[in-house]
Amino acid sequence: MQQSKVVQLPLTPPKQKILVTQPYVPSLDKYMHYVEKAFDAKWLTNDGPLLQELTDKLKDYLGVKYLLLVSNGTAALQLAYKIKNLSGKNVISTPFTFPATTTALEWQNAKVTLSDIDPRSWNLDPSAVKQSLLTKKIDAIVPVNIFGMPCDMEAFDTLGKENNIPIIYDSAQSMLSKYKGKSVLQYGDIHCMSFHATKLFHTVEGGALVFNSKEEYERAKRLINFGIGDNGVVEEAGINAKMSELHAAMGLCILDDLPMLIENRERSVEQYKAALGNSVTFQSNEQDVYTPPMYMPVKFETEEALLTAKSELDNYGYSARRYFNPEKNKYIPPKSYSQLVISNKISSNIMCLPLMYGLPYKHIKMISNIVKGSLR
Ligand SMILES: *Cc1c(COP(=O)(O)O)cnc(C)c1O
Repeated sequence: MQQSKVVQLPLTPPKQKILVTQPYVPSLDKYMHYVEKAFDAKWLTNDGPLLQELTDKLKDYLGVKYLLLVSNGTAALQLAYKIKNLSGKNVISTPFTFPATTTALEWQNAKVTLSDIDPRSWNLDPSAVKQSLLTKKIDAIVPVNIFGMPCDMEAFDTLGKENNIPIIYDSAQSMLSKYKGKSVLQYGDIHCMSFHATKLFHTVEGGALVFNSKEEYERAKRLINFGIGDNGVVEEAGINAKMSELHAAMGLCILDDLPMLIENRERSVEQYKAALGNSVTFQSNEQDVYTPPMYMPVKFETEEALLTAKSELDNYGYSARRYFNPEKNKYIPPKSYSQLVISNKISSNIMCLPLMYGLPYKHIKMISNIVKGSLR
């Protein structure tokens, strides 16, 4: 008889590696309940009942009027840029973000200008953007609330109004963030959200757009369905960026569990902060903000200190991740980076520690001790 591979494992298996994050999966029974509904109706995509239910529930939960579910966060960005007609236009964004923010701009043939970031919130700095506006005609601004931390949203609203240009948020990580007591979705013109499996709220793959304008919402709804209008007429060249019923089903399951997920990870973030003390610097904003517990980013004094901590963690089976390394964005000419003094100084010193649902305190304590130990 052939021996099972499992039996041949060494007697003391290596410790299971703790990854930087892990998707949350809801109860399979609950998911199957929704899948059954879709199977019974034989309605798997194209504005189906589950998608409509998720749309209504999210609108309620977030307090917004015009929300459109789409296939992923990158498609949401591409659609927002398309709707604001940014092809051939100059757009300012941040160097410290996931590549999709700016690659989607390039994809829409916009010209990307990067402005510097704030040293504490690590977000696009409105005063740096103001400087760029003096020297160049700019047609839109794309700030990002990185790691869910809101940027200075009021200042961007003011810049948008003064210069009569749209503010489009890459809100992939900030669906639940708050600025001055209000949802971040109340600021700016369009928000693009990601519901990728690694985000706090997810639909496996998915995303959403939130609009202020009903006309823009209706145009986007046509665009994600090949450009076909209500009357069946193709009104302009669209694309396929629809969310399926099976993806919406995942969203419905996770939306119910969301308060528990937030509470659980908030506790972990507090435990990290208490255990790490002032050995590292945390992301911050002096304004009244709420940052949902999406990631556990910390800043080291130097890149060398970061690399030491990272390799020590790795030795113990914990993987930490440097999310954004602007120099890796080769598609943007390197000379645009030379003026980004703050970004150049700090983006290589920021790393995310493991954070996921149900991470036991003993690991948080251990990770914090390894980080502190590496700094001695
Ligand atoms: C996740 C993410 C994206 C991309 O979203 P997808 O759903 O993976 O396409 C874009 N921008 C930021 C800041 C993100 O975190």
